[in-house]
Amino acid sequence: MATPGKGVSAGHNRQRRVAVVPHTHWDREWYEPYQSFRLRLVKMLDGLIALLEHDPSYARFLLDGQMAVIDDYLEVRPENEGRIRALAAAGRLSMGPWYILMDEFLVSGETIVRNLQSGMLRATAFGGAMEVGYLPDMFGHIAQMPQILRLAGFEHAVVWRGVPSVIDRSGFVWEAPDGSSVRTEFLPTGYGNGAAIPDDAKALVRRVADHEKEIGEFLLDGMLFMNGTDHQEPQPWLGRVVAEANALQDDYVLEVTTLPDYLAGAPTDGLEVWKGELRSGARANVLMGVASNRVDVKRAAARAERALERLAEPLCALYMAPEQFPARLLDLAWREMVRNAAHDSSCACSVDEVVDAVLVRYAEAYRIADGLAGQALGVLTRSLAEPGATVVNTTARARGGAVEFVVAGDDIPDGSQPLPETPGAFGIPRGLGPLTLDANTVRTILGMLPNGSQIDTHTWIQDVRVEEDASGIDITIAFGSEERFDVPLASIKQDLYTRLGARPDAIVRIKIDQPPVRRVLARVSDVPGFGYRPLEPVTPAHPVAVEEPDDPVGPLVMTNGLVTVAFDANDGTFAIDGVAGFGRLVDCGDHGDSYNYSPPAGDRVVDTPDAVSITVAERGPVRAVIQILARYTWPDYVDGVTRSRTGEVTVDITTDVEVRADERIVRVTTRFVNPASDHRLRVHLPLPEPAEGSAAECAFAVVHRGLDAEGRADEFGLPTFPSRRFVSAGGLTVAHDGLLEYELVDIGGTQSERRAATLALTLLRSTGMLSRLGMAYRPLPAGPLTPVEGLQLRGRTIEARYALCIGCDDPYAMVDDAFVPLDVVYAAGGGWRPSAGSELEVEGAEVSAVRREAGMLEVRVFNPTDRATTVSFGARSGWLVDLRGRTVAPVDGSFELRPFGIATFRSAG
Ligand SMILES: [Zn+2]
Repeated sequence: MATPGKGVSAGHNRQRRVAVVPHTHWDREWYEPYQSFRLRLVKMLDGLIALLEHDPSYARFLLDGQMAVIDDYLEVRPENEGRIRALAAAGRLSMGPWYILMDEFLVSGETIVRNLQSGMLRATAFGGAMEVGYLPDMFGHIAQMPQILRLAGFEHAVVWRGVPSVIDRSGFVWEAPDGSSVRTEFLPTGYGNGAAIPDDAKALVRRVADHEKEIGEFLLDGMLFMNGTDHQEPQPWLGRVVAEANALQDDYVLEVTTLPDYLAGAPTDGLEVWKGELRSGARANVLMGVASNRVDVKRAAARAERALERLAEPLCALYMAPEQFPARLLDLAWREMVRNAAHDSSCACSVDEVVDAVLVRYAEAYRIADGLAGQALGVLTRSLAEPGATVVNTTARARGGAVEFVVAGDDIPDGSQPLPETPGAFGIPRGLGPLTLDANTVRTILGMLPNGSQIDTHTWIQDVRVEEDASGIDITIAFGSEERFDVPLASIKQDLYTRLGARPDAIVRIKIDQPPVRRVLARVSDVPGFGYRPLEPVTPAHPVAVEEPDDPVGPLVMTNGLVTVAFDANDGTFAIDGVAGFGRLVDCGDHGDSYNYSPPAGDRVVDTPDAVSITVAERGPVRAVIQILARYTWPDYVDGVTRSRTGEVTVDITTDVEVRADERIVRVTTRFVNPASDHRLRVHLPLPEPAEGSAAECAFAVVHRGLDAEGRADEFGLPTFPSRRFVSAGGLTVAHDGLLEYELVDIGGTQSERRAATLALTLLRSTGMLSRLGMAYRPLPAGPLTPVEGLQLRGRTIEARYALCIGCDDPYAMVDDAFVPLDVVYAAGGGWRPSAGSELEVEGAEVSAVRREAGMLEVRVFNPTDRATTVSFGARSGWLVDLRGRTVAPVDGSFELRPFGIATFRSAG
């Protein structure tokens, strides 16, 4: 593609168009909490609305590309909705398209899509959304963003951070992996290049001329002059000073305008093309360290995403009647997820009050999702014709796996593994004799009891018997593992109140009749995708066993014949299939901030434990767990004066390493109480083959990255990268539960053929500052220099979960197997549903979402491969829709999906 020559339009031959776009960048919460910023938002919007209404020369305002600011404002000023609608309808005030300006790497692809859809839906109430993918402040951009924007019908994006040095013009074509593209306007110096316009026409012209000198090399034609910055109020003199500046000179034509109007006339011919993600620090900070600060927030996000996307939505869509689908509750959960997606929220580069609020929102979304998933499983359970335990698979692939369940008596099925005895329901020991109480106490207890029959995950009240004689009242409560909803607990309670009231001095004997049960672990196989079948334990083909060493110094070994793990009692690491050194914990100093890692001037790296003990927690045949307990001495903190790690603290770190029957995955859980400040803990994972790069999951794609990252003097290109749920390199795949940051290290080989030997996965990054000055890798601050104690996570329990597989052929299947377990429900029988079945067949693509939309079943799929695929939905027919729900094409059972394509299918019923 031809590249326009530099300098041809540098401004002096003809007039340069200067598009002044008044705006404000509204971080909803950041260095101040949401409510504090909202007080400023209300004041700002009160002023802006009045200004727009009374000053036609203040022609336009860009409301930051997000609808959250409108809702946050209208909650306080509902009376102004009509005024905003009128200004929006007149094209004076732009609406959306996003609900919030999210981070693109730290939230799921589905969250990004829902964010765009809810923003556009909300904007329709005000006459429609601005059709520009405005992405002003995100810390880099995902590869599939151009496709997402295209699927919403957009042709334009506007970006600042992440643009690589090879793009040297203010416009380029940004292409997604599937080939779809948007014309992208690059803001070379950011979204505030026209902030704080002076109230003086001559000064304004000088300012424009100076800026032209600064970025003239980039300009294709006109200049976009973004008149606003973080939380900026409008400048009421704008219209007048722009008119005066135009009257004063002939070099520039200034116009107060909108992004869509400016972009409609922007050059499109001969633009450079960039394909894939934008993560370069060549011209602006990408702040890559946000992926590893506040690991608790990242884990809370992963848990909530999984509960909503992988459990609640599919289960409710598939098992509840369409009219029962809890759309409103799911919307509330998604609203919390979308609000948290904001770049200062999900990135946790905020003060502690904000991070606390973020954690509450994730917890609320999770509770809604978890509760709805339970309700949907209840619908399935009650509909089953046959009684007994049933296994439910909420993922698209037919699969087996290990499940825990209870069996009556000591009837342990062949090939299954008994688990340690647990107390009975309510924690009452099994076989305990009757409790003798007085009538008053029993009345008090009755008042506290719920009316439901479920006691815990696998215990329901089966029956309550009441007998009375001269010696007192006998109550016998029978517990069992069948789900029961037909025990008339309310009337039983009423009857008891009557009896107790009649005999206030009676002795009451309560007996809990708990049949002996045993918790066991067994392997089940072939549970249909989005389906269920009776729980029938199978004898594993590859049972797992622990082999004690023959000699006292030999390694403890755990193997199922598919994967073998050998433990090194000297350093607490383990070998997988002969590749040694997994689980090495490397702790170094971090004198950085919430945005960037920074090695202290005097670092002390600790990677050797003081003492190690290895014990066997479970021995198979279904699951074996070996526990490594390692004690380390870490430095306490980084001294602010010497910038060196100082002091000593002791930490005990427990690592459970687990292998299951018939699986090649090794599951790892590391737990400790963080005793230190100012440090970074990573686990080093050796690569079976030296690697020249990595392949990491990001939204709707796997992206390939080399060993380096582009940076500049103001931000070193540290090649720590984010991965959504898994990353592969050198034959190793690592799936994780919210451990988003990895780096390929131990780089050797020749200069032309550099190879990494190890993948470092960050388990914790502990710093005490929102932002800092004079850091090793980023000398200038990225935010206020505010101490933030919570960023240290000191004294907090850290739990990190990840899974390893050498030679994994399907990382999407691996991450489901590792983190989306099969469910077990207990049916009473008597329903209409057959004992096994599948509610939805999807083949040929990965499933991102299953839900109901306007009563129809909606399934979003994507093709993560570079080959076209046939996606089939069994016998279902329907149609493909775009992200605005507009029909694209009919589908009769199957359709062809382009390489790396995303598609949304809808079907009636
Ligand atoms: Zn921002």
